[in-house]
This record gives sequence, structure tokens and C-alpha cells, in this order.
Amino acid sequence: MNNSTLQKIPSIDKLLQSKQIQESIKKHSRERVVQALRSILKNLRNKIIENNLREISEEKIATEVESIIDNENRSSLKKVINATGTIIHTNLGRSILPDEAIEAMSNSASSMVNLEYDIEKGKRGSRDSHLESLICKLTGAEAATVVNNNAAALMLTLNSLAKRKEVIISRGELVEIGGSFRIPEIMKASSCKMVEVGTTNKTRSADFEEALSEKTGIILKVHTSNYRVVGFTESADMKKLVALGKKNDLPVVEDLGSGAIIDLSQYGLPREPVVSERIAAGVDIVTFSGDKLLGGPQAGIIVGKKALIKKLNKNPLKRVLRVDKITVAALEALFKLYLNKETIKERLPLLRFMTRPLAEMEKVAEDASKKLKLLFGNEAIIEIKGGVSEIGSGSLPGEELPTKIITITHKKLSPSKLAKLFRNNDPPIIGRISGDKLILDVRCIEKGDELVLEKSGII
Ligand SMILES: *Cc1c(COP(=O)(O)O)cnc(C)c1O
Repeated sequence: MNNSTLQKIPSIDKLLQSKQIQESIKKHSRERVVQALRSILKNLRNKIIENNLREISEEKIATEVESIIDNENRSSLKKVINATGTIIHTNLGRSILPDEAIEAMSNSASSMVNLEYDIEKGKRGSRDSHLESLICKLTGAEAATVVNNNAAALMLTLNSLAKRKEVIISRGELVEIGGSFRIPEIMKASSCKMVEVGTTNKTRSADFEEALSEKTGIILKVHTSNYRVVGFTESADMKKLVALGKKNDLPVVEDLGSGAIIDLSQYGLPREPVVSERIAAGVDIVTFSGDKLLGGPQAGIIVGKKALIKKLNKNPLKRVLRVDKITVAALEALFKLYLNKETIKERLPLLRFMTRPLAEMEKVAEDASKKLKLLFGNEAIIEIKGGVSEIGSGSLPGEELPTKIITITHKKLSPSKLAKLFRNNDPPIIGRISGDKLILDVRCIEKGDELVLEKSGII
């Protein structure tokens, strides 16, 4: 019985003659079609052996070829709607870039550029030259360089200035950022020996002073960007650490994490340390991310003393960690926007989201909930409530921004099934679950329609 059905499986050569398959070959190449056919025929054979199939249709095979190849062609990286309420969401790619940066990226991607070429002299130039003076202007630093991300920035700094030496750090600042970034491991990977001082809640500059030895290479401060120790606390005063570094001829390095280059409190937002203030306080090297509070592409920005940045640039690791032309283009456009402090709030999507008026969010929530109610009928209870958004990615921990949320309770679907229904939309809508409700935060939603499922998605 099985054997006779097995014998009916057409050969690949025969299938390749069919008109439909010939069309597929024209569209996708013979190699891809043959590959798809092989996997389809293998499946057929298994199904027949398991007694799950009696009939074979060449037409069905041809249709399956198309659907296999269509599936392979679909992007894995796709647009999603961020209704989580977390503005800088690492898993969703952190920042939406300003138009000016997007245009610069696209221009540099589609043509050759003078990335490392001095047009005036007709000679080799430096890729940092497009950014260094801009970054210095905005931060007050003497020199600057850029690498792949802030983790790379810290690693390059540690390895260039304190290889096989000791790095003194407070026990209150041994942070872990998003799983794979842990200060002790970064130290090890940078060939530095970590010397911990003080306690979790209290560290004084005297603790640093006591730990100094002839093996000390760096005095390190790390911004505790994703948690806050509250209560009976003290952290070493930066002025005293700077003085200590000067007296002992040791660089004081600060990993600032989020790295605001303007004071966010002017927009009514919670205050985060500003890079220029740290430079003015005498910190020798400051590192920060390009895609957190800066609102740009993934990058690590290093600013500080000229002689030290020179050492970093000479380290072979700099070549390993360098950024490409697209990142340089995006950063240049981004920093130029920051030169105009009057317009930055409107131009930078991140700042626009962070400072969005409640009334504007309410309108979006009302529009979306009206349409969602039409869609679900009396299958679901849909309400608008006040809520809190997070800035996210270890920026301004514990600080929350008042927002508007839509809560949905479905009469038949559990909240996780409901969340899945929204994730299966095209584009996927990502919310969060709280108790028996699915929550859609409108903080980062421009129009109500973005939260409305396609009708075909509703069961
Ligand atoms: C986020 C963060 C990092 C890592 O930055 P990436 O740009 O994600 O590599 C390092 N240190 C601190 C303090 C941070 O907040």
C-alpha cells in the first residue's frame, strides 16, 4: 500500500518541467527551487510512510515551492509597534533616529564617502575627524573618539590605560547592564585587575586613597544607571577623586552609561548627569552610549584628555572596535542637531516621546480605543487609564513619566493569548501584561491606528 504511493512521487526532473515550476525558477533561480522541492519531497515520503497521505498533487507541490521561498524571503528584522511604555527599549532596538540622521545614513550607504580621506590634501584622513570637533564643542572635552558601543568604549579605555594594572572601583558600582555587560567581566576581558573598595552603600574617596599602589592604573567611577541604592548611602565625591588622581598622576575614568549631553531637567524631566559637567569637574575620560539618552545610533563615545585619547587610538583594539561610515554619518547629523538647543526637543524622536503632553497622548488613546471597541464588540472590556512609562535601558532608574494606557480584558482569551494576537499583527504590536489585562501604552504611538489590529487578525 505504502510502496505503491511512494512510487507515485514524481521525480525532481519531472517536476522541473511543469509550467508553474518553470515560473518559480524564473523568479527565484533553479538552485533555490530544487532545494525547496527536495525538502517537499522528503516530507511527502515521511508522510506516506507514516500512512498520513494517499494522494500526491503536482499542483500542490508547486504552490508549496512558492510559499517556502516566500517565507525564506521575508525579513526577520521587521518593524514593530512599541506599546510597552519603555521608551529606550533595548530588545526593540533602543532609539528611533531623527530624519536628518536617517538621510545622512542613506546617503553614505548609497555612495562612496570621504570617510578616511582628506579631500583638500588628497591624502589619507581619519574617520574621527568628522566627529571629534563637534563632540568636543558639545562636551567641552579636549579630544574624542568613537567605537561600537559603550561596552567597547569602556573596554578600550581600560585596556589602553591600565593593561595588567589595577583598577580601583567602589563596591556600590559593580553594575550589570542587560545580561552580558558586567563590570567584573569587562575588567577581566580588558586584562585589568579589579580592586574593589568601600561597601555596597557607602564608599568614600579615602577608600580609594587607601587602595592606591604602584600597580594602580585607573580610578574608575561607573554610573549606577539601572538601579539606585537608597537610604544610608554615600559615594565618593568626584572632586576629591579628581584631586586624588592628579596628586598620584592617575587618570580618573567615568563610565556615564546613558550620557545626556544636555540637561534634561530643563524639559521638566528628571536630572541625569551631563557629560560636559563631568569634563568641567576634571574627569580625564568619560564614556557613554550613542543610543540611550543621546537618541542616536548604537555607538560608544569617549571624550577626555588629548594625551589619553591618543593612547586609545594607538591601541590595536581601536581598529577592532571602530564604527563604519553609516554610524559616522548618523552621529554627525545627530550632533549637529544638538548644536541648536532651541529645536532639539522637536527634532529628536526620543526627546519628543519623553516630553509628550498628556493631552496629546489622551487623544491617541481615545482614537485607538474607539476603533478597538468596534473591532472587539462586546468580547472585550477596553478602558483608558493613567499609567507610568519608563525611560528604559538603564536611563533614569526609578523615574517614571505619567502616561495614558489602554487596558484590554478579553472575555474568552487569556491576557497572554490576547498579547499573542497583537504580536501576530503586521506590524506586530508589542504591549505588556498586568494581571488579567493587556496594556498598551501610547507614549511612543504617533497615531491611534497603529494600535488597531487588522480585521483578518481577529478570530
Ligand atoms: C548601558 C550601559 C553600558 C553599556 O552600554 P552599551 O552602549 O549598551 O554597550 C555600560 N555602562 C553603563 C553604566 C551603562 O548604563
